[in-house]
Amino acid sequence: MEPRRPVIALRALRTTIAGSLPKPAWLAPPKQLWAPWLLDGALLEEGRRDAVRLALADQESAGIDIVTDGEQTRRHFVTTFIECLEGVDFQHKRTVRIRNRYDADVPVVVGPVVRSRPVFVDDMRFLRAQTQKPVKFTLPGPMTMVDTLYDNHYRSREKLAREFAAILNREARELESAGANVIQFDEPAFNVYIDEVKAWGIEVLEAAAAGLKCPTAVHICYGYGIKANIDWKKTLGSQWRQYEQTFPLLANSKIGQVSLECANSKVPLDLLALLKGKDVLVGAIDVATEEIETPAQVAAVIRGAMKFVPPEKLYPCTNCGMVPLPRPVALGKLKALAAGAAIVRGELGG
Ligand code: ZN
Repeated sequence: MEPRRPVIALRALRTTIAGSLPKPAWLAPPKQLWAPWLLDGALLEEGRRDAVRLALADQESAGIDIVTDGEQTRRHFVTTFIECLEGVDFQHKRTVRIRNRYDADVPVVVGPVVRSRPVFVDDMRFLRAQTQKPVKFTLPGPMTMVDTLYDNHYRSREKLAREFAAILNREARELESAGANVIQFDEPAFNVYIDEVKAWGIEVLEAAAAGLKCPTAVHICYGYGIKANIDWKKTLGSQWRQYEQTFPLLANSKIGQVSLECANSKVPLDLLALLKGKDVLVGAIDVATEEIETPAQVAAVIRGAMKFVPPEKLYPCTNCGMVPLPRPVALGKLKALAAGAAIVRGELGG
């Protein structure tokens, strides 16, 4: 039986988040990416689901329109998915450079990558049963998955990405059947490997989303507010124009929504005009600072973006995931996001 699927109400400036929220301190140590679980076995299973309920409650009480599970069931937005596949050795890691920015010990592709069982589909069913709101489910994008591994088998980034796209597509179709209203692929790598985005990145992303009837989204950002990313951003100059090359390609793609960072970023807002026809998830919350935005600050970002995106296609959002932030800060930012959108909606008379 098809699950009950709430309709995304047709109103202007519907709010959503990039994906992740901080985890409760009893589940994983706070303010850490990739934090280890503090529970195991059946307790971990129960704890993760309780954390999903809390993440939903925070979004609903703040007034967010399209909610997520806060990625409470994953340690990491890419590796938790890959851990569930065959063909990748997590025991003998190799050191590689991630997005040309920092070194990390990463798992090694040692044979054909295979998804022998659904990864997040049970999580999606649970999420669907907990809320009346439309839900978005996030998955890693194929290029970003390739970028977190050492490939000792395919020896071709494109070939491995195509394999991942086929796997992601099966997962995404099952997530849709389990009740997802939107499926988003996280592709921060699109801001780094621009030539590969042109050569095969968009086509492979479309393959991951092929056949989905629900809206599909791609999130492209400058990363979490961790030091390596903040240092990298300092090297990008006074205007960040990476999106200038990818947006026209995305505008011509089958992907329906694009999520990007606008709050406190040096992205010239006129680049949004390059996404004509697409839904745009405008980052109006900075995830690199613990300072909570005022609703007026959020409203100012939305008004700026509205010069280039009509309000019914503009979704106020966070710049990126909020997992590394303290929970009270993340909750404050959720409330500011909803309140800022409400200010501008009021100005529009809706
Ligand atoms: Zn991001």
